[in-house]
Parts: sequence; C-alpha cells; structure tokens
Amino acid sequence: MNNRIYLDYNASAPLRPKCRDLMMAVLDAPHNASSVHGFGRAGRSFVEAARDQVAALVNVPASQVIFNSGATEANNTVLKHFAPEGVVVSATEHLSVLEALDGVKTIPVTVQGVVDLEGLEALLNAEKPALVSVMIVNNETGVIQPIKEISDIVHRNGALLHCDGVQAAGRITIDMAAMGVDFLSLSAHKIGGPQGVGALALGFCGVTPTLLYGGGQEKKARAGTENVAGIAAFGLAAELAKAQIEKFQELEILRDAFETQLLEISPNVIIHGKETARVANTSMFSLPGASAETLMMAMDLEGIAVSNGSACSSGTVRSSYVLEAMGHGPEISTSALRISMGWNSAQSDLDAFLTAWTKLYNRLKDKEKISA
Ligand code: PLP
Repeated sequence: MNNRIYLDYNASAPLRPKCRDLMMAVLDAPHNASSVHGFGRAGRSFVEAARDQVAALVNVPASQVIFNSGATEANNTVLKHFAPEGVVVSATEHLSVLEALDGVKTIPVTVQGVVDLEGLEALLNAEKPALVSVMIVNNETGVIQPIKEISDIVHRNGALLHCDGVQAAGRITIDMAAMGVDFLSLSAHKIGGPQGVGALALGFCGVTPTLLYGGGQEKKARAGTENVAGIAAFGLAAELAKAQIEKFQELEILRDAFETQLLEISPNVIIHGKETARVANTSMFSLPGASAETLMMAMDLEGIAVSNGSACSSGTVRSSYVLEAMGHGPEISTSALRISMGWNSAQSDLDAFLTAWTKLYNRLKDKEKISA
C-alpha cells in the first residue's frame, strides 16, 4: 500500500510513528493499570500521563477525562444518560449520535450545513429537552458550528450541551469552558492515535454520564480493563496534535488552491460548505449526474483513497444524509466525494488526485454521464 495516496483522514488518520513505537513498548508488558504490583503501577502512570495530555487538548482538569473505546461509546454514553429527560440533536450528526436513541428530534441546518439557530430555539421551546447534541465539526463537509452561540441558547433554555469533538480535535482549538461545552466526545484514531480508544471529557456541570458498570475503573465512570497501550498512544497523539494546530491551518492554502483547480477542470462541481467556516483539511464536492460509488472506485483504481463521507460499515456507498439535511436532492447527495488531509499530507497527494480526476471527468463527459 506504500505508493498509494491517502486522502481520507476524516475516516481514520494514519498512526503516527511515535504513537506506534510507544504502543508497542507498552504492549511488551502486562500493564493492568488496576494491579498494585510494579507492572500495574507502570500501567497506571501511562494512563495518568495520557489523561494530562488529552485534558490539555481540550483545556479541562485531567480529573474530567474518562477513557473509553472511542467516540461511538462516548456519544452513546451521554445520549442514553439523558434519554429519559429528552434529547435533541442536529440533523447532520454522526450516526453514533443520530442512531443512539429511537425517534430523536433533529435541529435543522442551513444549506451551508450550519445549525439553524432559530430552528434550535423553536425546538427547545417545543421539546424542552435536557440535552442538546451538536458536533463541533462535521465529518463530511468540515463545516464548523458556532458552538458558543449554540451553547448560550441551550443554557438559556435550561438544557446542557454535548458536542462530538472528533473532527475538531487537533484541527481547531477546543476550550470546553470558553465554548460552553458540558460533554465532549473524542476519538484517538482521527488524530493519529490508534483505533478503539477515545474519551468522554466532562465540562463543569457536575454530571458524569455512565454507560458501563461492573468495575471501579475510571473512578467508576467506565468499567472495563483500560486499553493501556492505546490510551498511552492516544495521549501522545493528543500532545502532538495540539502542538501542530497552527501548522495544520497551512492545509487551508493547499485545500483552497485544490478547489480552484477542481473548478477549473470541472466547472459544474459543487463544493459544500464553501461559504462558511470549515476546518482546513476537508473538501467535499458533488459532480451532479455522477455516482459517488463510480467516482470512489475509479479513484481507488488510480491508487487514491478518498471517501464519499458516509461509507457505512458494510463498505457500501449511499446517499449522503448530511447533504440531504442541507437541502440537496438526490442528484447532488448521491454524487459527492470528500478529500481530507492530515499530519502526513503533501501537495503531491492533491496533484495526484487532480491528474486522476481530469482523466475521470473527461471520460464521464465523453460518455455523457455528466453534463459539462
Ligand atoms: N463522530 C464523528 C464525527 C466521527 O467522524 C466518527 C468516526 O467515524 C465517530 C464519531 C466515531 O468514532 P469512533 O470510531 O471512535 O467510534
């Protein structure tokens, strides 16, 4: 896979070499962090060092970070805790939020994918929920939500705010207190750590949602033997990602030049969220008339890994519900591709994509699959 181009960081970032080395070293001994012997104590110190590192990434005291298996668990933990008192979520949330509860009401978004603040206010008045869940950054479009404004509305209406911070971590500064976030879900594998480890960070409301019982781990907030190697590597990834946030913004220059060239090659492409704030690494666009599956497969044959943003667990491609929620019809929501960059991306990756795209676009045009 070495000469393949990877432009799918929002699905999973490649493991950072330093995180891999640390993980392998920790895996070399039986570090059950709850054991009182030397191996256990060493395990405990890996976990607590990582807790400091993850806490620093989102600016909360380390005691407010609970390690778990990833953001799907964190999202489910918070939503299920508040289910009896009522939960509303934004329409473009990740499925681990949208499908955590049955029949959850959704907050509408604008055509740019930003939460409709009047719609939020209306839903809060009608439903009087105890919890609102709005992701900081959307995984498909990269659109950034105005979290402080949302939090002010949510708190004024007597509810608490949960944010899925998976796609924001290491990409923009997260300060839970300043943003007014009560619960935050994080995942290691989007910032160059390993898969299967993440955290729920608690804000300052004093509530600790708990999903798993049966052991005293994580101060009884999350039962189960800690994934010590994964947690250690997550901590290091958090530290490295935090140190590189400023550098990460340079990807915006690459992304914007990429979009300019993309529109020159294929003027009928529609770029999503272009008129609002987006994270620097993401570009999602539709080629009306084409099929996302065809586009992705053609790119894969050229050795370029991209996504349509909503590949489900079976690996099939379906219409983007995020684009549907933004008001787009099937022509646009079934023809989208997403490129997403990260810590190891280079201009040459985008150049390779554009070369392959030019070929593909001309082929589709010749076959009159798309109107150009
Ligand atoms: N939330 C968002 C926005 C995501 O992009 C993902 C990853 O696919 C998740 C949650 C799920 O994270 P995890 O893989 O840690 O369960």
